[in-house]
Amino acid sequence: MEKYDVIIVGGGPAGLTCGITLASANGKFPFVEGKKYLLIYDEYSDLDKAYLKNVPGIEPTKGKELLEKIRKQASSYENLHLKQGKVVKASGEKGNFRIELENGEKFEGNYLVIATGFHKFDIEGLDVEVIPHRKSPRPGKIMIKNEDGKVKDGLYVAGLVAGEPSMYACASGSGAEVACDILSEWAGKIVVVHDVPDES
Ligand SMILES: Cc1cc2nc3c(=O)[nH]c(=O)nc-3n(C[C@H](O)[C@H](O)[C@H](O)COP(=O)(O)OP(=O)(O)OC[C@H]3O[C@@H](n4cnc5c(N)ncnc54)[C@H](O)[C@@H]3O)c2cc1C
Repeated sequence: MEKYDVIIVGGGPAGLTCGITLASANGKFPFVEGKKYLLIYDEYSDLDKAYLKNVPGIEPTKGKELLEKIRKQASSYENLHLKQGKVVKASGEKGNFRIELENGEKFEGNYLVIATGFHKFDIEGLDVEVIPHRKSPRPGKIMIKNEDGKVKDGLYVAGLVAGEPSMYACASGSGAEVACDILSEWAGKIVVVHDVPDES
């Protein structure tokens, strides 16, 4: 069974930003040398339905087009593998999480990040508490109980399933925050991932 350092379930703004942030740390810190990440996404994201005019710095755009652009950006990192599929089962602890896709494929990960949106949570086997969403304007939406994105050691949630408001920037920011938290854990100190212009 293939093993990854972090498995991210969900390919909306939260999951993709988490994956990109983790992958982009490569070459900047020795403790991420050789680490690899897997992002699994099912077909639909809320972004598919959106037309975004209020995301700072982004020209008005169809959410679907923005999603394709971010997926392309994510795919450009060699250490981040994107895979389409539906995760149906997950289990384990920090160091040995296991997930299973609908088609029977299985993967292992040291860390697991759930970024599956706020419509439902139907992945079997994880010991998580699904509760009503704390910031949804519509009833019936859910989130997983967590503290600042952490559910338990090695298990994180990002985006709407973490209880963020349904806004692109909030979902995306939450994915980046979880990535920084994982990197900080590896580093044993607070870490962020910044680039600066090449002045040469
Ligand atoms: C009609 C509409 C208009 C909007 N307009 C705006 C706007 O103008 N401005 C703004 O800021 N925001 C807007 N939003 C909100 C924005 O789209 C969401 O806040 C954002 O998409 C949430 O990101 P997320 O990653 O948390 O969840 P999602 O985008 O829902 O992504 C969840 C991901 O998890 C995947 N997934 C779920 N279960 C599984 C599983 N078992 N296995 C594998 N993958 C799984 C899904 O396929 C998807 O890829 C709008 C949303 C809608 C619906």
